[in-house]
Amino acid sequence: MKPSIHNTLSRAKDELVQNNDVFGIYCCGPTVYGPAHIGNFRTFLVQDVLRRTLECAGYNVKHVRNITDVDDKTIRESQKLGVSLKDFTARWENKFHEDCAKLNMLAPHVEPRATEHITEQLDMVSALVEKGFAYPAKDGSVYFKISAFNEYGRLAGLDRENMATQATNSAGEVNNADEYERESVSDFALWKGRKPEDGENYWKSPWGEGRPGWHIECSAMSRKYLGDTFDLHGGGIDLCFPHHENEIAQSQCATGKSPYVRYWFHSAHLMVEGQKMSKSLGNLFTLEQLVEKGYSPAQIRYALISGHYRQQLNFTFKGLDDAKSALSKMKKSLESALAKINITADEFKTFVKAGNTFEQTVFEDAWNALIDDINVPKALGKIFSALTNVQTKQDLQAFAGLTYALGIDLFENEQNTEIEIPSEIVELAQQRWNAKKNRNFALADELRAKIKEAGWEVFDKKDGFDIKKI
Ligand code: AMP
Ligand code: ZN
Repeated sequence: MKPSIHNTLSRAKDELVQNNDVFGIYCCGPTVYGPAHIGNFRTFLVQDVLRRTLECAGYNVKHVRNITDVDDKTIRESQKLGVSLKDFTARWENKFHEDCAKLNMLAPHVEPRATEHITEQLDMVSALVEKGFAYPAKDGSVYFKISAFNEYGRLAGLDRENMATQATNSAGEVNNADEYERESVSDFALWKGRKPEDGENYWKSPWGEGRPGWHIECSAMSRKYLGDTFDLHGGGIDLCFPHHENEIAQSQCATGKSPYVRYWFHSAHLMVEGQKMSKSLGNLFTLEQLVEKGYSPAQIRYALISGHYRQQLNFTFKGLDDAKSALSKMKKSLESALAKINITADEFKTFVKAGNTFEQTVFEDAWNALIDDINVPKALGKIFSALTNVQTKQDLQAFAGLTYALGIDLFENEQNTEIEIPSEIVELAQQRWNAKKNRNFALADELRAKIKEAGWEVFDKKDGFDIKKI
């Protein structure tokens, strides 16, 4: 049996077939304007489990995940702090990477940044204009003409007959926003003419100064690293429309090749204690906030992957406590199995990799559950029952293979639970550093006092600062 997933495009469970030397996966990555929250990580972790599972099944995966380092939000937030867009996004990109490593996520093989692929994006916009799929507007922006693409709306299941495939949305407005609802379906911006609020964040183009629209970066970068047609594209369900619909339109019209992507893999959203996550409800958690509450990254990972990816996951503290108990139960069962078969923990650790055999072991059913539309909850259930029944070294190797596929670290390093610096403190310290650079020492002192009040101390270095807990 080969791994399968529910393909949003075919609306069916499709077996994943590797047609070329590599199985190309492109995942929409983070917009780096603040710390990623556990909802983002739910999606990135689901993708991590898929990639690991495919590796275990013998696929030669090439995983590309972009960094969105220019958009309305990154520009706005960097300007609030008076920092360059590059410095601002670099800080949050580093933070994202630290969190990913703690959550035991494999790094993508390529992680392209939007700002480093402006030429590729402009080439694609030019091709679309030349072929008549896009047109420049008076404000120096360039729009994609959705009426020129027959397949527009197919991925998201939009009703084309009744859909206004027109230049303006139902309110008669031009759509310059990156994110919008179905009601606002209309021509969308490929390139945005420079506005005063963009500050120094602009590039030259055949249509004047401006910056790329959000959707074009994924079309241009996936093409560069995976080709005109590639295997699988992932993202949270919110990206299905308009982002992925727009990616298909841009790519297929620019390259003339179809399909852009063979399998579309969308994960359902994470809710917190039954509610949508939002800053105003105070339920928008980051990894560091949960670690501060005493949970380890391995426990958090377990809680975030334990639901089926196509069902909304209701994240609760009870769920985190359950994850903690499940992991310690798994470790205890492993220790009994190791003792029974006379294998040391160190030897077991060498088994944790892709390439193990699951067939004819007690974990065969667990593996089959995992590759059947990445059914993690079912696989976990089967793992627990099989663990009490381990008979051979091959069984243990299969179990180790499953821990690789799920990214479960039963030997989590204690240092992962070290207290982290809260992002608000990092932001204050950045503001203080800027104030100092601008010779506004009164403000710098005020900010230092504020940081101290919260229990942290800043130390200046030659080219930046350090923060320590008092
Ligand atoms: P962003 O940084 O906003 O571009 O989002 C990065 C990824 O996180 C995308 O694939 C989103 O679809 C996904 N995402 C955002 N919010 C949630 C959520 N509450 N639950 C699951 N995935 C989410
Ligand atoms: Zn994308």
